[in-house]
Amino acid sequence: MSALAADVDRSVAELRQTVATLHAELTRYGLVAWTSGNVSARVPGQNLMVIKPSGVSYDDLSADNMIVCDLDGRVVEGGLSPSSDTAAHAYVYRAMPQVGGVVHTHSMYASAWAARGEAIPCVLTAMADEFGGDIPLGPFALIGNDDIGKGIVDTLRDSRSPAVIMQNHGVFTIGKDARAAVKAAVMCEDVARTVHVARQLGPVLPIAAADIDRLYDRYQNAYGQPSAIALGCC
Ligand SMILES: [Zn+2]
Repeated sequence: MSALAADVDRSVAELRQTVATLHAELTRYGLVAWTSGNVSARVPGQNLMVIKPSGVSYDDLSADNMIVCDLDGRVVEGGLSPSSDTAAHAYVYRAMPQVGGVVHTHSMYASAWAARGEAIPCVLTAMADEFGGDIPLGPFALIGNDDIGKGIVDTLRDSRSPAVIMQNHGVFTIGKDARAAVKAAVMCEDVARTVHVARQLGPVLPIAAADIDRLYDRYQNAYGQPSAIALGCC
């Protein structure tokens, strides 16, 4: 029997299923190896989040073995240890009330930028659409305290990007919900790969700031059904 109130319990039950299901997107898009990577979701209106357990195979993830933690990273429901990145997720939820989902991966191309300690320059219209500019570089930080969470928040606070490349580490993404954060992780790896490949044969061409603004505004405010048909592209 859950210690949570009935309405919170229902919302947690839905998010357990959502978060478990979204982990399959990380493997589908080739963003993770072994048990690395994790998705979490904030429980709306509560000091709670749902996150993956630590060290469990992706094939064995289910609604039942997701972990419910408070936003200080303490386990509220669940028989396993939460992801080792729980403190970073919790820090983001505490500091950024608009964020409803967080994703972390070591996806290959984005992590190659991390290994070089470089932001990904905004040189594709898809980057302008999705990230509103460069995908910024966050600081080097060790796991075990709030340094990773603080690095994510300090970097993303001044950026329109929902993704940050953490130096020597990998990617963290945020979204209004967990699905949006997963989408940002998929799109981040997609553009990280393309820009990496482009750079092998020469310099990449920047997009003017005013054009980035126009692209971002159109995509964020006008894109989607049914206007996508009129606007064209994807
Ligand atoms: Zn990591």
